[in-house]
Parts: sequence; C-alpha cells; structure tokens
Amino acid sequence: MPKLETQIAIVGAGPSGLMLSHLLHLHGIHSVVVEDRAREYCETRIRAGVLEQGSVDLLRRSGVADRLEKEAMFHRGIEIGFNRRRHRIPMYDLTQGKCVTVYGQHEVVKDLIARRIADGGDIYFDSSAVSIHSIEGPHPLVRFEHAGRSYELAAEYIAGCDGFHGVCRPSIPPGILQCFERIYPFGWLGMLAEAAPSSDELIYMHHDRGFALFSMRSPQLTRLYLQCSPEEDISLWSDDRIWDELFLRFECDDGWRPIRGPILQKGITGMRSFVVEPMQYGRLFLAGDSAHIVPPTGAKGMNLAMADVAVLADAFHSYYCSGYSDALDRYSAICLRRVWKAQRFSWWMTSLLHRFDDQNEFDHRRQLAELDYVTSSQAAATSLAENYVGLPMEQ
Ligand SMILES: Cc1cc2nc3c(=O)[nH]c(=O)nc-3n(C[C@H](O)[C@H](O)[C@H](O)COP(=O)(O)OP(=O)(O)OC[C@H]3O[C@@H](n4cnc5c(N)ncnc54)[C@H](O)[C@@H]3O)c2cc1C
Repeated sequence: MPKLETQIAIVGAGPSGLMLSHLLHLHGIHSVVVEDRAREYCETRIRAGVLEQGSVDLLRRSGVADRLEKEAMFHRGIEIGFNRRRHRIPMYDLTQGKCVTVYGQHEVVKDLIARRIADGGDIYFDSSAVSIHSIEGPHPLVRFEHAGRSYELAAEYIAGCDGFHGVCRPSIPPGILQCFERIYPFGWLGMLAEAAPSSDELIYMHHDRGFALFSMRSPQLTRLYLQCSPEEDISLWSDDRIWDELFLRFECDDGWRPIRGPILQKGITGMRSFVVEPMQYGRLFLAGDSAHIVPPTGAKGMNLAMADVAVLADAFHSYYCSGYSDALDRYSAICLRRVWKAQRFSWWMTSLLHRFDDQNEFDHRRQLAELDYVTSSQAAATSLAENYVGLPMEQ
C-alpha cells in the first residue's frame, strides 16, 4: 500500500477544501486533497453563484481573482418584488460601498484547481472508499483508493471539507456533536437557461403561488428558481410549464419578464438549515457544508465555507509558527458565531419570501407588511443589505 505524508489531509475538493489547500500553501503548510469525484465533474457542478464582499476580498488577497475581475458581474443592489411591483434595495449605498459579485461556484472551483496544480498541489480526484482514522490521537490517517491502488495518507490534522453527505462528520463518535436542524416544507426547482439576463440585478419575488428567484451566471446564462414541493417530480416540469410558471410569478405592472431560452439544466433541491457544534473533534476540523447547511435564499452557503477556511488556515499558520494550539482551539467558537448569524439571516429571508402550506390569512398579511417595511424603511433595508453583502469575516 503506497504511504503518503502531509501536514494537513483535506477531504473534498469543493470551495472549502480547495481554498483551504491554497491558503495553507501560501503559509508554507503542506496539504493533500482527496476528492471522490472527477476533476471535470467538480469544475462543472452548478451550485451557488453569489459571492459576498469578504469572499471576493479573500480571493483577491490570495491571488486567485484574475479571471473573476474580467468575467464576474458586480451588483450594487437587489430587487424584492411583491404585489406586482419590484423595489430596489441599494446595497452599495446602504453599506458604504459594498456589493455582491455574481461568479459561479464552479468558476471559483476551476480557478482554485488550476492554481493548486500550477503551484504543484496534490489533488487525488476520482478517489473511492475514502475513510478517516485515528482522529483522537496524534497520527490521524486518511485511506482511499485511487487508480486501482489503495493509499494511506498520514497527516498531522484532517480537514473535513467533504460537504453535507461526506464521510468526515459521521466519523466522529456518537454523543460528541450536537446537531441543530430545520427542514423546510418546500424545495427549489432550479434551472439554467441559455438566455441573456433581462435584469442587471437579482430579483427575489414573493408570489401567492410561491417564491421565484431571477439570477444569472454570465451575460449569456440566466439562473432561475421556483419554489416547489420537496418531493416534486421533475419529469412533470416540461420547459413550457417552467416558463409559464416563471412568467406568472414574475408578472409585474411594468411588464418586465425574464428572456426565454433553452433550458440547459434543471433539478430540485430540498431546503434545510443545519449546524453541528462543535466544528472540531480531536485532530479533525469540519469546514463548510460538512458542518452547516443554509437554505440558499440568503446566498450564504459558499461564503460560509470560505469564511471557515480563512479562519482555519490562519489558525494552522499560528500553530505551525508558534507551536501553540490556542487559535486551533478557538476555531469552532469563532466560526459558529458567524455561522449562526448567517443561519438567522437565511431563515429570515426564507420565511419572508416563501409561501408556507399552513399559512393562514394573518400570516400572509404579516408577510406582506414585512415586505412593505423592508422595502420602505431605510433602517430595515440597511439591515438586509448589511447581511446580504456579508458581515465582516471576523464577526
Ligand atoms: C444542489 C445544490 C445547489 C446549491 N445552490 C446554492 C445556491 O444557489 N446558492 C448558494 O448560496 N448556495 C448553494 N448551495 C450551497 C453551496 O453550493 C455550498 O454551501 C458549497 O458548495 C459549500 O462548499 P463545500 O466545499 O463546503 O462543500 P461542497 O461544495 O459540497 O464540496 C464537498 C466536496 O467533497 C466531495 N466529497 C463528498 N464526499 C466525499 C468523500 N467521501 N470523499 C472525498 N470527497 C468527498 C464532493 O464531491 C465535493 O467536491 C447549493 C448546494 C447544493 C448541494
């Protein structure tokens, strides 16, 4: 069995694993990434697309934002629609010049993979039977199979960056983690359409038939979502039915509507809020979706992943420079403070904009009153804007 050695073994080549590996490299710390999917799959997996100011600053500071500067779309506001009218939240003005950046998660992943490989990084794509061992002691291990051979990777620490369904979190013995969870009674039908975005900014639309979101991934690609049942059968949604429903939900008095185009991809995602505490056990640190999931309404998933690994990379740097583990010991508490604020905001945006099955007329009127308040009060709009562009990394 080939034996490999590293300082930090990273499980998962999503945004959190790749960014962690990149930041560690900049600090002179060696890591090896083990990923169960092919490189091409990771580079084309369409997921999040809204980067907070802090995530973009991190990509810039760490030297992986060249393509983003050329291709991303920088948004200074979002629109919120209800009762056939859309209202702009001028985030840039309300947050002293912060904005969000629309740049697909798969583009961030592509940039990070290219950079890791250019820097001589080790990423074992297409691995299988990945398992982690001895996380309680000083010599943790990752075992995996790759290209028909079995490997053993000895590390000083393991970073579990393997998403919600990965192997790292379940490897922690029962009784250690506390899980906090809310599952929502709806999902999102997401689709990618080959059509130029007909609005420069994202539109969050409240509608009696359910929530709809208009967003984009590039000047040629529109990304759209419809609230649906979590058990919805995607085969019942023909392209015509999807466009009819989108036009209904986005219909406003000014006649605006998304531009129609061929649907390239469609899928249904369930909605959940989930946090584990603590985000560390022994020599295993969890980061990103392996430790927490947010409903996508607040556009926080990828940003939380980036914030976690920024804290973790600094903590490892401090440990390897000083020999003291206090920064590593504080990792979970520092991240959870931010994670819970993002959970609160994502839950609030979700509750504000979605139609709930058990909603009575009181709830409906209260929801409309809140939408009216958020879009007409500068104080309320500022709170939304501050959270949407992202709280400072250290909060
Ligand atoms: C379908 C979907 C749609 C989403 N849409 C949005 C959105 O519109 N807006 C938004 O803000 N957020 C969205 N998110 C959330 C956002 O994409 C995540 O928060 C983000 O991907 C977290 O990054 P991560 O690196 O922590 O995890 P991931 O991106 O999940 O990366 C984990 C990596 O680990 C790998 N892996 C898993 N198991 C193993 C294993 N056993 N061994 C080795 N490798 C393993 C996976 O293949 C993957 O590459 C979406 C998530 C999903 C699942």
